[in-house]
Amino acid sequence: DASANRIAAGEVVERPSSVVKELVENAMDAGATRIDIAIADGGKTLIRVTDDGQGIPAEELPLALSRHATSKTDGADLFNIRYLGFRGEALPSIGSVARLTITSRVQGAEAHSLHVSGGQIGAVKPAALTRGTVVEVRDLFHATPARLKFLRSDRAEVQAINDMVKRLAMAAPEIGMTLRDVSGGGEGRVTFSVERQGGDLISVRDARLAAIIGRDFVQNAVTVEAERDGVRVSGLAGLPTYSRGAAVAQFFFINGRPVRDKLLIGALRGAYADFLSRDRHPAVALFIDCPPERVDVNVHPAKAEVRFREPGVVRGLIISALKHALAEAGH
Ligand code: ADP
Ligand code: MG
Repeated sequence: DASANRIAAGEVVERPSSVVKELVENAMDAGATRIDIAIADGGKTLIRVTDDGQGIPAEELPLALSRHATSKTDGADLFNIRYLGFRGEALPSIGSVARLTITSRVQGAEAHSLHVSGGQIGAVKPAALTRGTVVEVRDLFHATPARLKFLRSDRAEVQAINDMVKRLAMAAPEIGMTLRDVSGGGEGRVTFSVERQGGDLISVRDARLAAIIGRDFVQNAVTVEAERDGVRVSGLAGLPTYSRGAAVAQFFFINGRPVRDKLLIGALRGAYADFLSRDRHPAVALFIDCPPERVDVNVHPAKAEVRFREPGVVRGLIISALKHALAEAGH
């Protein structure tokens, strides 16, 4: 089982930012309203994610570290759309290639913690915590020097973590999030922070996009809103005048998950082809929602690739939705 975990880890845990993604998604699935992330040395020596979610009961802590144990399926349905997780692979994988400590408290019970290192699971012990869950990952890949060697500079890994946290924060505008670099010790330095937002979904989302991409983007964008054959696209598309020299502000989300996908980028290019030369790139944040059986978002667990059942429908929908929105704005 330990070696199976290490093989799975090769898929799930590519670099520190993939650990951050898995831990933040778990916090989101737990209904957190605040998620605080602390990292040191590019996430190589420390990644700590603290949430105020529902917590894990003491007796279920060992289960959280067992392969293929997930609390997120109902048995009949392999994939529950309400949750980001479903494989039950992330924590056991991380625990096989790092030192992992989970401390958690459910309402009305005492806090407990459990440590695993190199796949060796310790005993559940009483701990101190007011609420929610803290997952601490130390010394990623300490037991697999070959993997450690493939990590980039601390600076590059921090950048990748920052990008990941930004995307996750755009996908969940109702959750407050901070990222701190504690490499120097103490409280560290806040490198990213967004407040929890209230209000209706669209205004909350736009406020979050303004906070992350920039107020100028939201002010120079049109609202996109369309649906076809059960696939819905909504969000903001930058006016052709608000374009960039590089594709740095193109964000796509499918069923609440940040994704990067050639088909979506191609559709975007098609929609703006009449307005922009090849060296200018539109800024967009597009949220696609569709029944889970129409898209496979886990082609590769660590990569944000997707596979649509009917790519033509999605491509056509995005191009027409964007063209329509731009035409309404006089383009
Ligand atoms: P998955 O998310 O696919 O279920 P994980 O390995 O990521 O698998 O997590 C295993 C289990 O541990 C989850 O199903 C959940 O029950 C529990 N868990 C993990 N992180 C948290 C958290 N932050 N809050 C509450 N429960 C958690
Ligand atoms: Mg998970």
